[in-house]
Amino acid sequence: MSNWREAISLTYPAQAHMVQGYLESEGIETMLKDELTTQVYSMNSFAIGGVKVMVRDEDYESAQKILEKGGYINPEKASKIETVYCNGTTNKKQCPFCHSENIGKKKIPDVIMLIIYLILGVIFPIFRRTDMCFNCGKEWIYKRQKNV
Ligand SMILES: [Zn+2]
Repeated sequence: MSNWREAISLTYPAQAHMVQGYLESEGIETMLKDELTTQVYSMNSFAIGGVKVMVRDEDYESAQKILEKGGYINPEKASKIETVYCNGTTNKKQCPFCHSENIGKKKIPDVIMLIIYLILGVIFPIFRRTDMCFNCGKEWIYKRQKNV
């Protein structure tokens, strides 16, 4: 008997199902943990650490490689998206953290896309746009600040 290890944890069950299908398609046996808890208490998903996709001990290394290949995990930087409050005078042409002008836009798939995929089996390109800085590597989204 081999032990099960957490390969990745995801906030939404829909994401976990996608990862599970992806790993299984590569021949890795998986199991979900805390899926029901997350469905029932979806607001608490963050609190319990999301849905865990479990793999067997001996599959752990290859599972990590497959997840990396699929873009589910990024060992170099766990990208954390910051919220930057802006107003009419904010200069959006420069990085709010290091003020470099070497910035760009990045599209990240929205979670709604995953849910639609699960229901209809079709990928609709729904993306959220984030800004990122090539200089300091930070990512952020702008939120308009209400006038005080
Ligand atoms: Zn920067």
